Amino acid sequence: GLSLADADPEVHRVLGLEVARQRGTLEMIASENFAPLSVLEAQGSVLTNKYAEGYPGRRYYGGCEHVDVLEQLAIDRVKALFGAEFANVQPHSGAQANAAVLAALLEPGDTFLGLDLAHGGHLTHGMRLTFSGRYFDAVPYHVREDTHLVDLDEVARLARERQPKLIIAGWSAYPRQLDFAAFRRIADETGALLMVDMAHFAGLVAAGLHPNPVPYADVVTSTTHKTLGGPRGGVVLAKRELAKKLNSAVFPGLQGGPLEHVIAAKAVAFKLAGEPAFRLRQERTLAGAKILAARLLAEDRVGVVSGGTDVHLVLVDLRHAELDGKQAEDRLHRVGITVNRNAVPFDPRPPMVASGVRIGTPALAARGFDEADFTEVADIIALALRPGTGEAGLAALADRVAALAARHPLYPELTA
Ligand code: PLP
Repeated sequence: GLSLADADPEVHRVLGLEVARQRGTLEMIASENFAPLSVLEAQGSVLTNKYAEGYPGRRYYGGCEHVDVLEQLAIDRVKALFGAEFANVQPHSGAQANAAVLAALLEPGDTFLGLDLAHGGHLTHGMRLTFSGRYFDAVPYHVREDTHLVDLDEVARLARERQPKLIIAGWSAYPRQLDFAAFRRIADETGALLMVDMAHFAGLVAAGLHPNPVPYADVVTSTTHKTLGGPRGGVVLAKRELAKKLNSAVFPGLQGGPLEHVIAAKAVAFKLAGEPAFRLRQERTLAGAKILAARLLAEDRVGVVSGGTDVHLVLVDLRHAELDGKQAEDRLHRVGITVNRNAVPFDPRPPMVASGVRIGTPALAARGFDEADFTEVADIIALALRPGTGEAGLAALADRVAALAARHPLYPELTA
């Protein structure tokens, strides 16, 4: 057969441009990371050819003897990594994992609680345009205006008033750790199940640098591609009793054939996440975020949601700044730093503009950035966000970004 370059020069060319973009810029989208070559190799493999509906040992297709081994490896590794009794590694994404949990534990119309999207929750935690908001009675809870921390009094009050079947704890844009024990108490008091969505912080948990929700929650969902650093995908962990319901909600409930190439890559990522090098990388991730928060707090009229961070991201608060979120995102893009604008809690601006940017350190930590590098990055970001920094200033910052990128070669083994 032909190589990609020969079979499809158009796709090959764009792929080359994307590799160059990833190499030449500083990736600071908090939900992104760089999967190692071993993960890319497993994911880009002949396993994509295989149908394997069902689960290891119970398939609806022949020829599954090897994918059975791989999927069981992924299951065993992720259970060991997080201390879970049950794992399903088939969800194609984090959203699919969350859909499977709602389908397994709730009936349409049932009530659940989730953190409001505008306060840091995920779309699948009840936003009205998603399956979670359309087919269920999704009740949002919020962060407190004074502390920017999840308002556990409100969670407890809503749980008593609305008697949800499920409470979801988890976030996409929240710079602090959740109190899982408090969520558990509220769930127990009100007879609700507790689901924790650790998509963002799973890598920190794996490294032992963040409390593990598994002992507290009935179900824990995650993505495998954020701090965890694996292939794009999802996973569901749970207590043994929920195994049957969850498995049948994933397949045949929501999905057909599992992506065994991705599952093999997940197995690789789960192995790597248990190694000492992974912990060091997550330590650099956390140190980088703290350096960034401290540097930005020193700037005039720039705030940081909750006054700092305990995790891999900083939510820059531009409510009192001259620049809005969109302008900040654009200015950072121009110097070669990729971030996303994000609403901050109690944001007066519409979501398409927003008053915040979410800045994460996992991808740069994967690239080898240390505290000195993050100090330089933080300075570049702070200066880029000063309204007074003009064209020449931004060009000088772009040079500093290029120098940092050159100092940390990305995928040097790839020729594309
Ligand atoms: N859950 C949380 C907390 C997330 O932040 C995300 C990612 O954006 C998801 C779920 C959804 O993951 P995916 O994009 O893989 O569907």
